[in-house]
Amino acid sequence: MSQLSLAYIFHNQQLLVDENFQLPKVETLASDLKFKAGDQVIARDLLDSEAIPEGLQLVPIRQLITLWSVDEFQKASRAVQLLEWRRNHKFCSHCGHETQIHPLEYAMVCPACHYHQYPRVQPCVITIITKGQDEVLLAKNANNKSNMYGLIAGFVEVGETLEEAVQRETLEEVGLKLKNIRYMSSQPWPFPSNLMIAFQAEYDSGEIQLQEEEISDAKFFKFDQLPEIPFKGSIAHAMIMQVMHPQA
Ligand SMILES: [Zn+2]
Repeated sequence: MSQLSLAYIFHNQQLLVDENFQLPKVETLASDLKFKAGDQVIARDLLDSEAIPEGLQLVPIRQLITLWSVDEFQKASRAVQLLEWRRNHKFCSHCGHETQIHPLEYAMVCPACHYHQYPRVQPCVITIITKGQDEVLLAKNANNKSNMYGLIAGFVEVGETLEEAVQRETLEEVGLKLKNIRYMSSQPWPFPSNLMIAFQAEYDSGEIQLQEEEISDAKFFKFDQLPEIPFKGSIAHAMIMQVMHPQA
């Protein structure tokens, strides 16, 4: 008898779910990405030949953030990242030979030179900058057509500490110097495989100067006069709420 597994089935940044946004159960295939033995949870890309079964629908992963619990979303996020990693490491990056899936751990192994390729995360700092007791810096991304104002964020560069990345990104994007940079929290973010590391910092000095390719507007907003901010479920939203309501 074939075994049914709870399945994360992906197609173009969308996930197959039923009308209640729950995961379907499907027959397991040999090529599926499996999570710990016995869990009966698999992930795979929608096969070219596979029709979308009756009652199921493809929903953008970003939309599921708002519909699922944090725990459910983190599990899906892990599945999508592992699938993407497997899809991108079919060949050895050292010698070019076709790789094999390691039977026990998340590794793509080269049978010719034995090089192991493991999933990697990209550390990305995101910073909430306050001024005085009741102002926060929010910036509008130049590539985003909406009217949403978010936080300063960027990838950590090779050889840099997290705090240095916070200071550098802020200086580059809005021309400000910071003080009292401190860690808040972190969140895996599967677009494509980032670890968002949240910091809080205080304005120290400088005038706002925009890096125009990245930022179309930035200013300090009073807590009670915020513009449109990132959606609930994003780390930016949680950071803004935490700074405005530190006891909550
Ligand atoms: Zn190799």
